[in-house]
Amino acid sequence: MDCIFCRIVSGEIPGDVLLRNEHVCAFRDVNPVAPAHVLIVPNEHLTSIESLAADDSELAGQLMLAVKEVARLEGISDNGYRMVVNTGADGHQEVQHLHIHLLGGAPMRHRLG
Ligand code: 5GP
Ligand code: ZN
Repeated sequence: MDCIFCRIVSGEIPGDVLLRNEHVCAFRDVNPVAPAHVLIVPNEHLTSIESLAADDSELAGQLMLAVKEVARLEGISDNGYRMVVNTGADGHQEVQHLHIHLLGGAPMRHRLG
């Protein structure tokens, strides 16, 4: 399987990695759409939120805690930020490895909806 995010997680190709632990990895998006734009991914290849199983609850929690930690590292905790998880075709998910976009560093231009 040729997954670009698996290759960044493994270190096979370089990524601008901000955080790495036994569960998750966080690296800067190569095409940022906000001053702070970081992707938080599980180290294990899961295609999307749809691939999460009941016994992945620890991993799901670790992803959320990593978002909070990356926000702290980026200095955006106080001003706030947005998480986006594109899922499947209607969600315009382009990379088929579950990832949370952390967006911040400026006010978001749009409210959702
Ligand atoms: P999606 O539409 O799947 O939610 O978003 C995929 C994101 O991955 C995009 O924002 C895109 O810029 C980013 N991306 C695609 N390829 C790479 C890559 O090789 N390295 C990094 N750091 N980001 C990537
Ligand atoms: Zn992968």
